[in-house]
Amino acid sequence: MLFSRRKNKQKNIPYISSSLPSFDQGGLITERRVIIVSNRLPVKVMIKPSGFQLQQSEGGLATGLSSVYKRNNNLWIGWPGAFLNESQRAQVNPLLEAEKLMPVYLTEEEIAAYYEGFSNETLWPLYHYFPSYTLYKKSDWEAYCSVNRKFAEHVLQVAHEDDIIWVHDYQLCLVPAMIRERLPDVTIGFFQHIPFPNYEIFRLLPWRKEILKGLLGADLIGFHTLDDTKHFIVSCSRLLSVEVMMNRIMVEGREVMVDTFPMGIDFEKFQNWARKDRTLQNERRLRSLVGSAKIMISVDRLDYSKGILNRLQAFEMLLENYPHLRGKISFIQLIVPSRDQVPQYKWLKDEIDKKVSAINSKFSSFGWTPIYYFYRSFQMDMLSALYKAADIAMITPMRDGMNLVSKEFVASKTDKRGVLILSEMAGASKELLHALIVNPNDIEAMVDALLQAIQMPEEEQAYRIQAMQEIIAKYNVYHWVNLFIETLEEVKQQQDKLTTKMLNRQVTEHMVRHYAQSKKRIFFLDYDGTLVPYFADINQAIPDRELKRLLIGLARDERNRVVVISGRSHETLGKWLGDLPIDLIAEHGVWRKDDGRDWQKYTDLNTSWKSSIRHILEMYMHRTPGSFIEEKSYSLAWHYRNVSTELGEERASELIDNLKFFSSDYGLQVLSGNKVIEIKNAEINKGKAARALLKEQRYDFIMAIGDDATDEDTFRAMPTRAYTIRVGSTISAAQYYLRSYQEVRALLETLAEVNVEEFIKK
Ligand code: UDP
Repeated sequence: MLFSRRKNKQKNIPYISSSLPSFDQGGLITERRVIIVSNRLPVKVMIKPSGFQLQQSEGGLATGLSSVYKRNNNLWIGWPGAFLNESQRAQVNPLLEAEKLMPVYLTEEEIAAYYEGFSNETLWPLYHYFPSYTLYKKSDWEAYCSVNRKFAEHVLQVAHEDDIIWVHDYQLCLVPAMIRERLPDVTIGFFQHIPFPNYEIFRLLPWRKEILKGLLGADLIGFHTLDDTKHFIVSCSRLLSVEVMMNRIMVEGREVMVDTFPMGIDFEKFQNWARKDRTLQNERRLRSLVGSAKIMISVDRLDYSKGILNRLQAFEMLLENYPHLRGKISFIQLIVPSRDQVPQYKWLKDEIDKKVSAINSKFSSFGWTPIYYFYRSFQMDMLSALYKAADIAMITPMRDGMNLVSKEFVASKTDKRGVLILSEMAGASKELLHALIVNPNDIEAMVDALLQAIQMPEEEQAYRIQAMQEIIAKYNVYHWVNLFIETLEEVKQQQDKLTTKMLNRQVTEHMVRHYAQSKKRIFFLDYDGTLVPYFADINQAIPDRELKRLLIGLARDERNRVVVISGRSHETLGKWLGDLPIDLIAEHGVWRKDDGRDWQKYTDLNTSWKSSIRHILEMYMHRTPGSFIEEKSYSLAWHYRNVSTELGEERASELIDNLKFFSSDYGLQVLSGNKVIEIKNAEINKGKAARALLKEQRYDFIMAIGDDATDEDTFRAMPTRAYTIRVGSTISAAQYYLRSYQEVRALLETLAEVNVEEFIKK
């Protein structure tokens, strides 16, 4: 649905266009300045005898975003769609500026390599699952990088840290990271209007990592469907060493959210068009052209992803197998010209021409034409009439990010008559569940759907259209824009909240004062990475004399309760720390040993999952030299500290991906710790264990320190008045961070040495 792909450059055939529309529809949720960036501006520069004029595009994106960029001092940056020399630019620039548009001028060579080349001959076919059509040309990739840089530079000329920058679509994947390099805290959203392929397809791209890294410069990345969202997240976790939690990805301490925002249309606009006199006149003309036969329509840009040949094949089979329908149905096929100089498109066009004339010459009779074929674009009054007149719309792409035509058809049905046959490969099929959903590769199923549509009683048609209209009216394009911007602002606020602050002197002084004045204190201390460093051999992390002295010193004050809370096995923890006057929690909460008592097991859980998971881990252990498996009562851990970094990270993300598949079935949690992946019963976590201790007594000084993902559960279990500290600066539920285990020890030392009496006297 991008206007940017919508025209044949050579022929300059515009998609729907009209005079400039008003921009006051819909309200925009944010007060901040929004800068939209897309390959094409929402206008076309026209050369008229009187000078230059701008013609507004009415494409879905342009309509939706018109509610944004015309407001306040918002702005839209993009290519104006024409190759202009310096003096022409001087004439056009003021026109654009008046419309709040900032041009990025590109040369013919740049358009050929970046747009027609990399965007449309590499990313487009690959993302639409046509790998055999995909070209991998290094020179195109280089042009893509340099043009993306050019776009980013234009943004940077005008953007400030507190702006919202919203980048659109697959032509500009590298722009978010390029902006982020220079404006590290700015808010950036990215929306991809075409599908995101699954990992097996995406990995074919030689520049796959660069594309992902470019996109991850954004704070929010949006797709039309849940599948696209999932595919993107899986590709990130398989190809980059990033931490992924559900739909959030950690990128150098910044939390990036990936989410699904199905794009809508301007429902009211299509309803209004359907009621206009001009439309009604055109509808009557169409009706009289076709006579009493039922009208089936399809509207597509010329593209191999649209499934045009399969649809023709289904129509042919219908007429072949059901001779009584000859003369009873006509197919009006509108194909909008696009890229027809490119060999694959040219071939497709020839095949369509041949197929249409073969069907017409085989089945036509006096007074009945099976297929009316238009290779052109229609004005809105004609398009609306086509939607309105149609008994059936057959929209069956092989793959489509969303497909707006299907929604426009439904929205135009003011009399609620008509049937939509929709491909399950179109994003819209996830919302328009009351359509007849078909697989475009299954020609017989398409014929069956056509039969069902032809015979469908009017009440059923009305019921289905009504249900779909309710969805389309509610989730319209203004809703889509606002939802995206709203989510983007929330992501940014969330990032601010999650950004832990370095524990500075001021906070430490406050903490010491609080410590001195409190009567009952509790310390939750993680072990590895928090009290001791990481060792290549996990058995070497034995507590040193200094640490033992420190813990004893802290525990000596009877107001203090010191709890070491670790994922380590209870045997190890008991051997190393069991003789100290402190409490121990082992294996994330399965075992607990209070000072002076024996170990107690706190849960009894099913471990039948262990043998199948062990089998998977063993496979990884054998394939990854240096890695090993650790077994605990309710968990299995795969350690890769001694594996080369790159191989370790690659295998780890592959393993996590495989384990996710099993984990929900067995009720397991997969934790990615520091060079270790641990799989445990989901019911057990450090947070639960810590909460149980907090319930036993009232504490007026609470502190929790930890260094990896498993400690996040502890932080989250703490009341807001607690001091939560994460070792290493990263996104965390903890309030503060310290840099190393040495800094943790120093802090504990400071507290242990506080001379309470003296402090109070002061
Ligand atoms: N369209 C148009 N003129 C025409 C036929 C179609 O402007 O003659 C518009 C149609 O209204 C729709 C868009 O083109 O908004 C096609 O969007 P869609 O998502 O269906 O497909 P895309 O071409 O973006 O892959």
